[in-house]
Amino acid sequence: AAAAAVPAAKLEDAEALIDSVETFIFDCDGVIWKGDKLIDGVPETLDLLRSKGKRLVFVTNNSTKSRKQYGKKFESLGLSVNEEEIFASSFAAAAYLESIDFPKDKKVYVIGEEGILIELELAGFQHLGGPTDGDKKIELKPGFYMEHDKDVGAVVVGFDRYFNYYKVQYRTLCIRENPGCLFIATNRDAVTHLTDAQEWAGGGSMVGAVLGSTKQEPLVVGKPSTFMMDYLAKKFGITTSQICMVGDRLDTDILFGQNGGCKTLLVLSGVTSVETLQSPNNTIQPDFYTNQISDFLTLKAA
Ligand code: PLP
Ligand code: CA
Repeated sequence: AAAAAVPAAKLEDAEALIDSVETFIFDCDGVIWKGDKLIDGVPETLDLLRSKGKRLVFVTNNSTKSRKQYGKKFESLGLSVNEEEIFASSFAAAAYLESIDFPKDKKVYVIGEEGILIELELAGFQHLGGPTDGDKKIELKPGFYMEHDKDVGAVVVGFDRYFNYYKVQYRTLCIRENPGCLFIATNRDAVTHLTDAQEWAGGGSMVGAVLGSTKQEPLVVGKPSTFMMDYLAKKFGITTSQICMVGDRLDTDILFGQNGGCKTLLVLSGVTSVETLQSPNNTIQPDFYTNQISDFLTLKAA
């Protein structure tokens, strides 16, 4: 068993943390925004970090949008963030397929929303499925079977509000009958916060349905898997010990940072409370925690 982690320290000296790294990776929901609402003090904090020469990168597990669509979202919230700084799990799926030289004459079946389709398209991969399959009913061929495309060589599963039995069966056929067909998950978040009123079934629930019929474990490309971290380290030529990963969720963001060998900062502006952090049941301890990223503006060197 792993040794008990050192409990997270309350961040008291933001300057020291800022000085100790060259890059900040920010999770989005719960850190930068909550749903469609900007979190207080974010623009000023990002400006401060940029003025100190820090590289800023934004990584979200939400696969429903493409990088370009997130660029628009940042802009609509008044944040000047370049598309090149944004890495969504929709993009991660396409980047992963590129990294393994997935053949361009094979097809990708998508359970998920528009973001994944756009990113696959940009990378030049043939795809089928997506939101429009949400209206499809199973059509039985004479002999009582459902037809599927034998050229599907990978299935990508992300959060999908158009999920149905057609998609599960289609995907099950691909995995069981197409030799070597890959099963890629953008993320496995159990719940998400589409609205503040309640928790909503997250991308992990779509992955789970597919897992149930095939018993094949997915390859996860979003947080906490190391794929994006390796990708970012290579792309920007950064050593991961020079990165601080900032997130609101222990089992995705903080684990992502720890798996990558980064410094980690948990913010309490999202899904994790200080009670959860300090509960004896919690095994994931960030290096530091603080209320929100705008604390960087007020915490001074001790
Ligand atoms: N997936 C979905 C569908 C979401 O709505 C969210 C948050 O809104 C997430 C994942 C988590 O996103 P992030 O990694 O930015 O916290
Ligand atoms: Ca988050």
